[in-house]
Amino acid sequence: MSYLKDKIIKEGQILPNNVLKIDSFLNQQIDPTVMKAIEEELYTYFKDHGVTKVLTIEASGIAPAIMVAAHFDVPMLFAKKALPSTLTGDGVYQVEVHSYTKNTNYRVTVSKQYLSPDDRVLIIDDFLANGDAAMGLIDLVGQAGAAVAGVGICVEKSFQAGRGRLEVAGVDVYSVVRIAAIDSETKTISFAPGH
Ligand code: 5GP
Repeated sequence: MSYLKDKIIKEGQILPNNVLKIDSFLNQQIDPTVMKAIEEELYTYFKDHGVTKVLTIEASGIAPAIMVAAHFDVPMLFAKKALPSTLTGDGVYQVEVHSYTKNTNYRVTVSKQYLSPDDRVLIIDDFLANGDAAMGLIDLVGQAGAAVAGVGICVEKSFQAGRGRLEVAGVDVYSVVRIAAIDSETKTISFAPGH
């Protein structure tokens, strides 16, 4: 989708370790026009997948996830990074996830109340790098006995392992934008074809 590509080219900053900073329109300040375009594209791809719920991880997945969920008219659920005092151990599904940007592990939690074996869950996230966040969410869906309807990503870094891991797991993945390479010396980003 050229609109998101244009924003990445104009406003994206390349940080060490192949991290792309897009705080001006997705990761801190959020541009609703970009979100709308992302949402429409993800909805169009997944509209016949029988989606009953949209799942993401706080915080940056929430904006695209709520937009997509609104279009499907289904609830959006986000995995929490801290266990709230209102949730107790046996009432939750939890999984350990490695954070690509912070290089630490953290445990994410959803209440058992909000995922059931009848659900077909569309997982949405801002970035796909090595796939740990998405694989963790797939694990949570599996713990509930629910089905994964697919994984929708705003920005995939196709030179990292995530896409391959998801495909090996048999998951239908659609990324709005795919980045083929980030050159930190020349500060250039090249895009991969397809979604
Ligand atoms: P993965 O778990 O696939 O390795 O990484 C995906 C998660 O790490 C996303 O939820 C995202 O928040 C974060 N992430 C990975 N790569 C980038 C990046 O280049 N830029 C930003 N802003 N976040 C990233």
